Amino acid sequence: MTDQLVYALAAEGQLRCMAAVTTRLVEEACRRHGTFPTASAALGRALTGGLLMGAGSKDLEKITLQFHCDGPLGNIIVQADPHGKVRGYVSNPAADSINGNSRGKLDVRAIVGSGMLHVIRDAGFEIGLMKEPYRGMVPIVSGEIGEDIAYYLAKSEQINSAVGLGVLVEFEDGTSEESLSSVEAALERLRVRAAGGFIIQVMPSAEENLIAKVEQTISTAPASTEMIAGGMTPAEMLRTLVGDLGLVTLEEKEPRFACQCSSARARLIISALGRDEVEDMLIRDGGAELTCHFCNATYKISADELKEILKDETDVRCQSDSIADS
Ligand code: ZN
Repeated sequence: MTDQLVYALAAEGQLRCMAAVTTRLVEEACRRHGTFPTASAALGRALTGGLLMGAGSKDLEKITLQFHCDGPLGNIIVQADPHGKVRGYVSNPAADSINGNSRGKLDVRAIVGSGMLHVIRDAGFEIGLMKEPYRGMVPIVSGEIGEDIAYYLAKSEQINSAVGLGVLVEFEDGTSEESLSSVEAALERLRVRAAGGFIIQVMPSAEENLIAKVEQTISTAPASTEMIAGGMTPAEMLRTLVGDLGLVTLEEKEPRFACQCSSARARLIISALGRDEVEDMLIRDGGAELTCHFCNATYKISADELKEILKDETDVRCQSDSIADS
């Protein structure tokens, strides 16, 4: 099944519902970053959470989630736009913690620890709109990601929300972690079997008995990963979660892992370092290499390109000198 992100309303607008299947994009993120099983679950949950929080927002709005964690995982940074593009990374992809035996549950809380969750919603900065971004911050109260997002939404945005996020990973061909010769070989065989989740928000106008009813259906619904592994679409998940409350789908899109980096941007970053630094790179290293944190792509800048950057800079300088002279 392809990934899918759905934004819907239910109970005549008293409930705002977002759900997503993100199996493919989470697997791509994990492969790019070489994340271990528990780090994969943490990153996948955060990527899905970012997408769900960004769904249904205005065209230019971008949402950034920063989990500053004191556990072995370090930080989780995720950025999503309302079109379903998301990117993200964790500081330590090798963080791992499995409860009990190798068939045990991935212990996300153990690698996240405590810390702070920062959320930034900004609109239009990239096209020069200087609107102040909305910033919110709450302590990490759970470390399971979904509960932390629910806490943030309640405390900072004053919206009561039920949040469910899940990632199910497994090793291909029934291979166990121990039987593989190296960490690299193990990671090669790591697959994301199901990833996704939902956010259901209760609007302030909602009736008391509606809230009780939804709480009841959500608490009896299967876990997100179970529904997704069973082949359910996001709309079917929502129907299971809210019951017969007249679900109306407003938007449906295919989310994907997408970064904004490019070799042109890499060049721009290098030239912004200034003449001395670029000359130094040329003499000392005979080139430069830049890796994007968000997607782990590496850009190599050759010696010739560095010379070109230095030449461009000289040209610009000469031009501005002559303008100053005239
Ligand atoms: Zn990138």
